[in-house]
Order: sequence, then structure tokens, then C-alpha cells
Amino acid sequence: MATEDARKRLEDRLRGRGALLGEASGALPSGAFAERLAAQKDALVYVIAEYDVTKSMDRYISIVEQNIREVGEEIFENEKGIKVAICGVGDHSDGELWLQRNDFTSDVSTLDAQIRGIRRTNGGDDAEAYECGFKEAAGVASEIKIAHPTSKIAVVFIGDSIPHGMQQSQYSDNGCPDGVDYRQSLAHLKAAADFFYFVGATEVPTIVSLQKTLIDPTKPNERYVPLGSMVGDLPELLIATIKQTRDPAHLADYLKQLGAGDPSKAGRVGGYLGLPPGDPPIGKFT
Ligand SMILES: [Zn+2]
Repeated sequence: MATEDARKRLEDRLRGRGALLGEASGALPSGAFAERLAAQKDALVYVIAEYDVTKSMDRYISIVEQNIREVGEEIFENEKGIKVAICGVGDHSDGELWLQRNDFTSDVSTLDAQIRGIRRTNGGDDAEAYECGFKEAAGVASEIKIAHPTSKIAVVFIGDSIPHGMQQSQYSDNGCPDGVDYRQSLAHLKAAADFFYFVGATEVPTIVSLQKTLIDPTKPNERYVPLGSMVGDLPELLIATIKQTRDPAHLADYLKQLGAGDPSKAGRVGGYLGLPPGDPPIGKFT
């Protein structure tokens, strides 16, 4: 398959440049990972915030809408070199709204317009087009890596459902009409991006279990975030993932500042990212 060849070429190229953080990181000594992060310290950071936009996600979108100025000011004014694109993923039965794309921005008003522009969709079956959302993000991340090899890329996926094609019997799944296999598109996404966060916007245990299989807990640069029904933590969580990608020390500073006003929220947000409690929290992937 031509796309498979293109993907291989990209991976070979990234591997040659030492840019493939996720690749074989089971064998990557933690010291090498830390070194790589240090080398990328001042690199541009591209963040793809990919939202499930089906109706049940409304409160998770609204809370970020209501707080988008604070989010934007924290990541664009208190940090340097951050570019964010908010994208929406529905289901194939939503027609052209299944994918809602935006360009990268470092401007608060543009980010505000992006989140307010998200159209809620109906979806079809229980599974959503996450497999194709992963494919889209993988494509965007690959293009950035080729154009800006030293940049850091984080993908933050926020959803309350599962991709088509998972092995399960509890939820309806009409399959992907384009024949996209989530295992392939997810592997491609993880190869092209430096960090991958899957934010579980659900407390349903069977969904949480399925979502968790999308993450390899042994890899330092991918994480399942069990947000559950703590909707009000999402704006700070988004800021925290971006700070962690920028520089773990910046995350530690942010959590300290957050903790001065709301210690329990700071503890929860640090906990979502696997940080031990403490003052100051240690801002690194564990
Ligand atoms: Zn699909």
C-alpha cells in the first residue's frame, strides 16, 4: 500500500533524526529520554487538542469555552513558542462534520473562536470515528515533523467513547466505512507525535477499560488521563499537559501557583498526569 510506504519512509526519516520518541522507548534508557527532552527545551511546541464532538461531550466542551481566555493567556502569554489547534471528531454518519479542522494558532482570540466554532453532532453507533481522528492527527503531526524536525508535538484526545473496530461486545459498532484500523492509525500517531494524552471523559467502567488499552503504560510519553466526571478540572488539565510538554519544570511552577489558590485541584491535576503529591510536585513523566 502506498500510504504504508509513505508511513515507513517517514518513520525511517524520523528515526534517522532521532526524533521518534515513542519508537522502541521500552528500550530507551530514561536518561536518553531526559536528554532528548532537554535538547527540545526551546523547540516550538505544537499541540493538537482533538475533541470528540458528539452531544454527550457538550459539558466538556462548554467548560473549556467558558475558560478559554485563561487557558489561552496561560499558554500563549506565560509560555513561549506554543501553537495550538482545536479539532473536532464525530462519527462518519455526521457527514462533513465528522471532522472539524482548525489551523495552529498562538492567539487567544483565535483559540476562543476555534472552541466556540465546534459543532456538536449526533454520532451514529456507540463507537465514534476516533480511528480516523487518530489518522488525521497522525498526518498533521507527520507534516510538522518533516517541516520542523526539532519541534515537539503533543496530541491531547478528549473523548467518552471508543474507536470503531475494538474487540468488545457491549457497544454498537458499525465499523469504519473507510476501513481504517485504529491500531494502525494510533501507532502512526504515536510514532509521529512526541506525547499522546487520552483524556477519558467518562466514568463508565467498561468504556474506561477499553480506552485504557489505547495507551501503553510502560511508555513515558503516553498517558491515559482518568478525568471521569471532574469536568471542572479540564481547563487546568489542558494547561498542565501543554506545560508538561513544554518543560516539566514549568508544569511544577504552574501546579504550585494553582495550589496556592486551590490545593485540592492542583493535587488532582498533578495526579491525572501521574505526579506524586507534594510541594512542589515533581513535574515529570513517571
Ligand atoms: Zn473511520
